[in-house]
Amino acid sequence: MTEAEKRQRRNAREAARKRRFRAENPNAARELDARWRNSRRLKVVSTRTAPITKAELDARLAEFCGGCAYGPLCSFEEWDHVVPLDAGGTDTIDNLVPSCRAHNRSKGRKTLFEWLRTTYIPVPLSGQEPS
Ligand SMILES: [Zn+2]
Repeated sequence: MTEAEKRQRRNAREAARKRRFRAENPNAARELDARWRNSRRLKVVSTRTAPITKAELDARLAEFCGGCAYGPLCSFEEWDHVVPLDAGGTDTIDNLVPSCRAHNRSKGRKTLFEWLRTTYIPVPLSGQEPS
């Protein structure tokens, strides 16, 4: 058996052990997941150089006429990180744009260019039939 095969078997055994542990200890698994999320959240917060102020957010929103940055006719519902935090984006005002929920969900963890290249679908306006 080669070293690579041994490593593969070790990894498979370890993955199976983790799956078993999670199945047998759902509460502990939830606790571990929460800890992982919190550690990520702390890391995210630490990329901030200064807290984002309400005035900065208002100014940013005004740059997009109070609406979603990704569609001229949908409305602002939440802030999107243009460069996702997972991809090294920062939690700073220059990386935030207002977005509607549908566009934010559609973009997900993709960068703007990945999203535009692969999956951009204009959000249909409610109450308007496509012509
Ligand atoms: Zn939108």
